[in-house]
Amino acid sequence: MDLNPEKHQSLVFTQCGTCNQCCDGSLFTAGFVPLSDFVETADCFPIVFHKIYGEYWPGMIYALKPGLPCPYLDLEKKRCSIYHTYRPVACIHFPFRFKAKPVAEIGPFPGYPFNLEIDERCPALVNNVPGTRLIEDDGTLSQPFLQGLSEPKQVDFVEETQQFCRQLGRFGLFKKKKFKHKDSSGKKSKISYQIVDKKKIEQEYPDLFKRYAPYLMAHWRSLDKPKKLIESM
Ligand code: SF4
Ligand code: SF4
Repeated sequence: MDLNPEKHQSLVFTQCGTCNQCCDGSLFTAGFVPLSDFVETADCFPIVFHKIYGEYWPGMIYALKPGLPCPYLDLEKKRCSIYHTYRPVACIHFPFRFKAKPVAEIGPFPGYPFNLEIDERCPALVNNVPGTRLIEDDGTLSQPFLQGLSEPKQVDFVEETQQFCRQLGRFGLFKKKKFKHKDSSGKKSKISYQIVDKKKIEQEYPDLFKRYAPYLMAHWRSLDKPKKLIESM
């Protein structure tokens, strides 16, 4: 796969057109939220947790089921309506995303504890102007790309997010939830996820609460956001 290093510094993907497939629910309905982006994302989307390969990870939900558009997608203009004010990191990075489990064909990168996945369903990748190869013939990540990727902000946020989730998991602070919904045609949908147990953490682990207060408050505050998703259906 070829990438243009100018266009892909720090995984900011700026080469797309107006296909909207990553916003209209055709490709996915949720995205990873690093701690560095937690508070802002919580103002727009519900942030919940999922257990993936034995570890908890935070994710924003943007649609209650596949095929439903993000509530911030302006369907007439075919544009993100919050593009110039705030977009979650998962949106900015797409078609790149971090994976908790090694992706055999591309990771792990040297000096980088996580793995990066590239969603090749993004049509802009197929039509990309040839630039620097992402993976060299010897299997290593191309240096220009690695330089952009290795900025401290990019590396730290995944690690600190993992630490946050591991601490919560260690103290048994996640609890299962289901969100059930019936749309106007009577069709039922259901999403299962995990949330942080507010009462338990406030009563039994006040130090952990103090340490992570801004993120935890943002998480709990965001849980009323499914209403916004329903309104957009
Ligand atoms: S799927 Fe790819 S080309 Fe289409 S809007 Fe998303 S990033 Fe852009
Ligand atoms: S916030 Fe904007 S970029 Fe992100 S999924 Fe919604 S419409 Fe797309």
